[in-house]
Amino acid sequence: MDSNLLRKLPKVDDLLKAQPVADFSGELPHEVITDSIRKVIDGKREKILAGDEALDESFVAYDNVVDEVVTVLNFCKINSLRRVINGTGVVLHTNLGRANLSKAAAAAVAAVADRYSTLEYDPETGKRGSRHTHVEEVIKKVTGAEAAMVVNNNAAATMICLATMGAGKEVIVSRGELVEIGGSFRVPEIMSQSGAILAEIGTTNKTKISDYEKRITENTGALLKVHTSNYKIIGFTEEATIAQLRELGDKYGLPVIYDMGSGLMVDLTAYGIEEPTVKDAFAQGADVVLFSGDKLLGGAQGGVLAGKKEFIDKMKKHPLARILRVDKMTLAAMEATFKAYYNEEQAKKEIPVLAMLTRSQEDLMKAAQTLKRTIARRNAGYEITIAKDKGMVGGGSAPSSFIDNIILKITHEKFTSQQLAALLRKGELPIVGRIHEEQLVLDVRTIFADEYQLIADKLAAIAAAK
Ligand SMILES: *Cc1c(COP(=O)(O)O)cnc(C)c1O
Repeated sequence: MDSNLLRKLPKVDDLLKAQPVADFSGELPHEVITDSIRKVIDGKREKILAGDEALDESFVAYDNVVDEVVTVLNFCKINSLRRVINGTGVVLHTNLGRANLSKAAAAAVAAVADRYSTLEYDPETGKRGSRHTHVEEVIKKVTGAEAAMVVNNNAAATMICLATMGAGKEVIVSRGELVEIGGSFRVPEIMSQSGAILAEIGTTNKTKISDYEKRITENTGALLKVHTSNYKIIGFTEEATIAQLRELGDKYGLPVIYDMGSGLMVDLTAYGIEEPTVKDAFAQGADVVLFSGDKLLGGAQGGVLAGKKEFIDKMKKHPLARILRVDKMTLAAMEATFKAYYNEEQAKKEIPVLAMLTRSQEDLMKAAQTLKRTIARRNAGYEITIAKDKGMVGGGSAPSSFIDNIILKITHEKFTSQQLAALLRKGELPIVGRIHEEQLVLDVRTIFADEYQLIADKLAAIAAAK
């Protein structure tokens, strides 16, 4: 340990007087500035005490310490929740915010965010309106449902649906469908919170329609099917279809509820993605379907409930409706997202989730070459190779569907792959890649074309700083 360096470490009061630090006093509270200074000094003191041989006078030089404090202070000004560039290739990346809104949806949000709106007002009559109508009309048109509402997320949709249709009654579910979704969503737990009684039937791998029938009593409230969206049971398996449940429901006068998870609106089997569609669920006879707003639907976080008017109307009046209700920004995003589905071909282009998932191999290859060229143009010493890779949709969707991705493997003689990945994540606009076989990988499927230059600039800055 070098006590000489410790003594030379600048003091808080002296750093406060430095002009570049003092310049922040109008923008940041005094405590934030002093805390930031302390954080920098403490970090340095720890390093010196640890006895790092490589440290010299420049480590404690006043101007250098001021620069570091300024970096920390600049960071205090930027938002913690901020944009990132997704180079993982995972389209519905749960940690990176799942679905990106379409341009139209983002514009609809912006239009009402800082102004008054028709949220609960009907300009035709000048009277009070309902916040549900904005999304309900368009959901009815594009799904064929009689009625619809949107709540905070699909977990909330499940909760209000079961509380309305199953409280105090038994709801029959297959043991193969007692799903846990990331976080704390577990079907049995949501069920008990809602006041419905879980009646599990069948086995993990096989549940027959006769298993449902045998379990029906006077106290049965509904038949529930849960899409196993984040896992797949393969091999010796059997499950009841919605059509079979419909038939049984009709025989005993029971409603059929379908928790679909993703809310896919257009068939994507041609693109290697096997997920049920909302239209198919209604065609097979589901009374109420529930799905997420920000999975394959491609909208905002939300839970969509669509189906028979008699059930949806009850949900709208349930006390939970107020607790789980969404704000004007979510409604604006959802209305615009559903409107894109008036034209399915258009939706595949405009909704980023669908656009990313339906990109052709030629398009991905072209994108990879353009990104490679953009990075190479900076002459920063990176080695880049283009390769094929298998990817997944993510976000707990389509667990058995693998999609063909094209990746850039990027190396630099001065950095390990871990260092490079960490440096790309730093700063105001983090770039998130993957490490694959000791190489940094950027997957072009999830990178927007207007982000190539930003990636090239950041890589060049990283190489120049070393
Ligand atoms: C994702 C999912 C949920 C939870 O949806 P959130 O919108 O994340 O709350 C519930 N059920 C199924 C089947 C799902 O796939």
